[in-house]
Amino acid sequence: MLMRALFLAVSLTSLFGCVVNPVTGKNELGWVGTDTQIQIGEKNYVPAQQMQGGQYKVDKGLTEYVNGVGQRLARHAPIDLPWEFVVLNNSVPNAWAMPGGKIAVNRGLLTELSSEAELAAVLGHEVVHAAARHGAQGMERGMLLQGALIAAAIGTRNQEYAGAVLGGAQLAAGLVTQKYGRDAERESDYYGTRYLAQAGYDPQAAVTLQETFVRLSEGRKSSWLEGLFASHPPSQERVNNNRALVKTLRAEGFKGGELGKDRFAAATAQIRRDAAAYAAYDAAREAAGKKQYDVAAEEAGKAIRLQGAEAQFHGLRGDIRRLQGRHDDAITNYDRAIAQDDAYFGFYLGRGISRSKSGARDAAKQDFNRSVEFLPTAIAYTELGKIAEAEGNASAAARYYEAASGAPGAAGQQAMQGLVRVDLPRQPNKYVRAELARGAKGEVLLKVTNTTPVTLVDIQVNVQLRWAVTGEQAFGRRIDALAAGRSALVALPLRNDELIGGNAYTVAARSQ
Ligand SMILES: [Zn+2]
Repeated sequence: MLMRALFLAVSLTSLFGCVVNPVTGKNELGWVGTDTQIQIGEKNYVPAQQMQGGQYKVDKGLTEYVNGVGQRLARHAPIDLPWEFVVLNNSVPNAWAMPGGKIAVNRGLLTELSSEAELAAVLGHEVVHAAARHGAQGMERGMLLQGALIAAAIGTRNQEYAGAVLGGAQLAAGLVTQKYGRDAERESDYYGTRYLAQAGYDPQAAVTLQETFVRLSEGRKSSWLEGLFASHPPSQERVNNNRALVKTLRAEGFKGGELGKDRFAAATAQIRRDAAAYAAYDAAREAAGKKQYDVAAEEAGKAIRLQGAEAQFHGLRGDIRRLQGRHDDAITNYDRAIAQDDAYFGFYLGRGISRSKSGARDAAKQDFNRSVEFLPTAIAYTELGKIAEAEGNASAAARYYEAASGAPGAAGQQAMQGLVRVDLPRQPNKYVRAELARGAKGEVLLKVTNTTPVTLVDIQVNVQLRWAVTGEQAFGRRIDALAAGRSALVALPLRNDELIGGNAYTVAARSQ
């Protein structure tokens, strides 16, 4: 028994390897090393930001300020990561950390805090998630959400694009929406508060922060539930733990420490002044999601009147005009948005669709290509596929459609239909599987399967049979129609001879 347990332990170790947790100093099984974590963070940081609203840019000093506070904290983490802290243009109160030290905090969380020390408590907690490999542990345990679940979890403010995020970017979504578990949260609270004190802040801020969270969770604002509460459930236990730790820290000699209330108030003054503008923006997004375009346009107009320098407000007005079919107006609004912020995928994606509808094919193509540089979506690749198809470039169209076909939901479905349309005539056997089988009574059957999500008609299959005495026999079979995913069985004529081989091959098919 002991030998077996030992053997198991050894084989697990060789599979996973052993890593030292930089924060706790303990050995743990794992295979995602520091270099890999840094690579993952660098690759996924931008797409994760993009799908959550992009960076906040009206007051560029705010990100500099938050990054400064974050760096002050990160200096006390026991591992040297390429730390980065950004402010996301998102009203949901949330913060997250990616492996490799890439951290983000939402505009909507900053307006709920009352001091720089509370901000530092949030960032310290996130620093520990990254330093203590909590994201890497989630990957090692295969805990990341997949596909359709992610679409629901991202909570992108733009519901039109939810579910259309592709491939690698789905990993980004999984990384920022994962739940770490109670032990990891406790670890992050504990060490985060220690770094807070070491950085010269009053650790009491970690207590008031948790108290704020508990109070707000009792109010059950729905945006809180989809934000920080989903991944960091607040509780009285966390408040009590932090309180006990503050006592310990005081006993260890961490007296005083600063709160930085005035500095924090000055740094966040702009987003507090613009609160009404963002409330109108959020209301407009929600109305647009319900196809109430007049209400949406009115709220978007209000947001723009209150803060004309916010690119997202102009982009939203572009989205509304586009959804109303007013493509010239939409393009004008997207132009304004891009003039203020040239690094958000949604402006290019929206303008590309409107340009495409207006017949400006080359300009649309540029926009779609630019949008996928920031965030690859099935919508952009499907649109690029449509343009290539219209230009008669079937192989390019097939490549684009294929790239988009992996997305869950309607976006992937539409791409698959495009792929079948352009690629089916070129390689029908890839989409319609033909095979020979023996029936129960020894009869020879032709089984034809439509592997696509669309109905196919006029399916032509060539059959070749090899008989022991009479030799090769070739003939064709036609199937009128076959629904998506369905198979047809066709009995083939038998000879008074022994069948020793054969094959079947689809040579033509059309989508309906
Ligand atoms: Zn956490």
